[in-house]
Amino acid sequence: MAMSQSPSQGNGKLYIVGTGPGNLEQMTARAVAAIEDSDVVVGNKFYLDMLGPLIDGKEVVESSMGREVERAKRAVELARDRKVSMASGGDAGVYGMASIVLEIIESGGEDVNVEVVPGVTAASSAASLLGSPLSSDFMVISLSDLLTTWAEIEERLEAAFTLGIPVVLYNPRSRRRKNNLAKALAIASKHLPATTPIGVVKNCYRPDEQKKILTLKELREDHSFVDMHSTVVVGGRTTRIWKVGDDVKGIITPRGYGRKYVY
Ligand code: SAH
Repeated sequence: MAMSQSPSQGNGKLYIVGTGPGNLEQMTARAVAAIEDSDVVVGNKFYLDMLGPLIDGKEVVESSMGREVERAKRAVELARDRKVSMASGGDAGVYGMASIVLEIIESGGEDVNVEVVPGVTAASSAASLLGSPLSSDFMVISLSDLLTTWAEIEERLEAAFTLGIPVVLYNPRSRRRKNNLAKALAIASKHLPATTPIGVVKNCYRPDEQKKILTLKELREDHSFVDMHSTVVVGGRTTRIWKVGDDVKGIITPRGYGRKYVY
């Protein structure tokens, strides 16, 4: 047993790994090493599939969406004496599996050898594909009302859009929640002009990646393109669409250098 481990720790290890947006190239080297070091990989099928050759030959425990608590308990149990990776898309600490796993460890009172490995979250992935829409302060709000009430989400949206800084919307739409995005955009419209730039990126860094750059008014008119694999970046007061001639290249929120320097 390593000196750094306390007596209650066995030989196991639990990595909670942020696997990034969906492509091995966008995983951190530490995330890859954690998976490679593991005997067992736990996760939902959608995210495990993207790990491809990395998990060949390993024991894989797949579970479906909506069974997160069960999955987290299983991972903690297995990690008593085995090396286990709990794979979670994007960053495991952002609407991911890290908190539920840590809460289960906490409530069990066991001293589990756990490491949270950060990953590239959807806000960063989407922003990179749009240009630089999140250059200064911004907010992230999930429109999923499975674990947060819609009343709380509306309160947060109202506060966020009042500030006039970019707001990234996760879980913008699902089959069960068809109107949440329309409601969120209506709140945005109370505080921002109809010309406010918006970027929608679907399946960032996955084979079927698609993006759209449009205005708040245009997205309010038709958001049928947005689905549960999309991230919506609503610009702030200073956000603009970057064009070369008539060609839309991306979205820029100035960092503020223009106030200090001439370029
Ligand atoms: N832990 C994840 C977020 C999970 S919540 C992360 O840090 O990225 C699920 C939501 O994340 C989706 O509804 C979508 O809004 C966003 N998302 C995750 N991966 C994405 C991707 N590759 N492309 C676009 N949006 C993504």
